[in-house]
Amino acid sequence: MSQTIKIDGVTVPFVEGQTIIQAAQDADIFIPHLCYHPDYSANGSCKMCTCRVNGRQMSSCTTKAAAGQVVESNTEEINSERRVLAQMLFVEGNHHCPSCEQSGNCVLQNMAHRLGMTALTFPNFYPGRPTDASHPDILLNRDRCIYCELCVRASRESDGKDVFCISGRSENKRLAINSRSGELLDSGLTRDDAAASVCPVGALIRKREGFATPIGEREFDRNPGQAVNIRAGTLPKLPRQPGQKIRVATCSLAGCFGCHMSLLDIDERLVDLVQVVEFDRTPLDDIKDFTQDCDIGLIEGGVCNTENVETLRKFRKHCKVLIAVGACAINGGVPSLRNGIDVRELLETSYVDGLGVDNPGIPTDPELPYILENVSPIHEVVKVDYFLPGCPPPADAFWHILSNIAQDEQPDLPYDLMHFD
Ligand code: SF4
Ligand code: SF4
Repeated sequence: MSQTIKIDGVTVPFVEGQTIIQAAQDADIFIPHLCYHPDYSANGSCKMCTCRVNGRQMSSCTTKAAAGQVVESNTEEINSERRVLAQMLFVEGNHHCPSCEQSGNCVLQNMAHRLGMTALTFPNFYPGRPTDASHPDILLNRDRCIYCELCVRASRESDGKDVFCISGRSENKRLAINSRSGELLDSGLTRDDAAASVCPVGALIRKREGFATPIGEREFDRNPGQAVNIRAGTLPKLPRQPGQKIRVATCSLAGCFGCHMSLLDIDERLVDLVQVVEFDRTPLDDIKDFTQDCDIGLIEGGVCNTENVETLRKFRKHCKVLIAVGACAINGGVPSLRNGIDVRELLETSYVDGLGVDNPGIPTDPELPYILENVSPIHEVVKVDYFLPGCPPPADAFWHILSNIAQDEQPDLPYDLMHFD
């Protein structure tokens, strides 16, 4: 008779020597993980698969199943700790999904998605680790590396090459290459090596294969999650007389207006929306001042200059509920790709020595706002009540959240309306 454990109340058989995560996978029970891979030795470094085993927190990829164990995995307490881990990985690297080839097929992105991580509550590090593009077939973007060591293990255990290792500690930690030059070019790594395709994120990728995984086979499709709750706090009651409409204002900082375009993609449902909602300030009318306070403020874009800071503070003051809309507002997005580059160097490249520059000279008009050293997400400047992720969020997501609020409901975002790209 086979031995069993219980995972979240389900009886799961195991064979001697199996770990908890292996027994769970054989029983089609998903335990979130990043550094675990069934083909390689477990190293238990990411801690994402941590469960309560007989009441104690243990990594399920390194803990052997033992008869009678009671394992808790899918609980709010454990998932909220996993959300924190996912956030720490996002802020520690540069995870701008809209500009990443791995988007849609990324284990970290999918984990954050499944766990309902809508925003980053820690300051972003914006590291500037060296990218290695020396190899003709393989690219290493160290700013996306999550130190899962899967490439280290695959190179050693499958390819027999030992191409990778981890060097340094803390913020100086780096994925290092065992080669004379320290670059991939002379490392002996080849396109067909297991290590070249094992990376769960967009750090180590094969060139010319971006977005090649067919829809239906991506990480996102293989491990779908549940509806998530996008609440950042409790929705305050919006006091209204019967029949009184909700006042909505929108605003744009350093972004591309794509989020606003997506809002307009609600199309004919806008006609329904204006039955319950009236718009105050939008970039379409370009009104810079408020005529009166608003119930809901939707704001897109990151904070990149002194004018953005002033606009954002004023907007926050006049909006009872502030919703950060889109990747740029939530983590700086594509505009923050400049973070880590000296501002003067940026200006000189753009206005003096850059390709195609005519009449070189950095603009000095006193009306121009000062550029900040970094582009920041808006929650680093003001309090944000809700986060609506996406680049841009789909029109249906706007529709969903505004309809919820108009009906005095706490907004919940269905799983398929939430994404990071
Ligand atoms: S898709 Fe790319 S940017 Fe987004 S989490 Fe994955 S590795 Fe990071
Ligand atoms: S490059 Fe990829 S596989 Fe290697 S340690 Fe970093 S995240 Fe893991």
